[in-house]
Amino acid sequence: MALQRTFSIIKPDATRRNLTGAVTKMLEEAGLRVVASKRIHMTKEQAEGFYGVHRERPFFGDLVAFMTSGPVVVQVLEGEDAVAKNREVMGATNPANADEGTIRKALAESIEANTVHGSDSLENAKIEIDFFFKPEEIVG
Ligand code: UDP
Repeated sequence: MALQRTFSIIKPDATRRNLTGAVTKMLEEAGLRVVASKRIHMTKEQAEGFYGVHRERPFFGDLVAFMTSGPVVVQVLEGEDAVAKNREVMGATNPANADEGTIRKALAESIEANTVHGSDSLENAKIEIDFFFKPEEIVG
């Protein structure tokens, strides 16, 4: 076990339904600490850059439109095995396949509007944190 940092986004479907507190509560109850947080409205360029790995996927255009459809809350989460712990509490991409007790099972609307993003590896966590945060914005 190691203390890690991972990157999270509370997506527009959650900010629209006033669920930023509900999502954060589930993250905190899973043992993750919010060490940086800001509410932003992503630009098209930011969303396209952030989801660049999905550029060739059929859902890319819709995903960029969704992620720029309203405010999001970008966060840095810290904890023991934070990357895996966050993926566990998020649940499966499609809420229909997500386990009981996960954020997506409890709150997500659809495979696209699925309430949260979380880094899928420690390497990507570093890249994603650097994409949205300056070092001095993170207070551990
Ligand atoms: N997504 C989508 N349709 C799909 C698969 C994914 O709209 O068929 C969206 C969804 O919002 C998902 C994001 O694209 O969270 C990134 O997909 P990924 O496979 O990386 O899933 P995640 O790591 O978020 O579970």
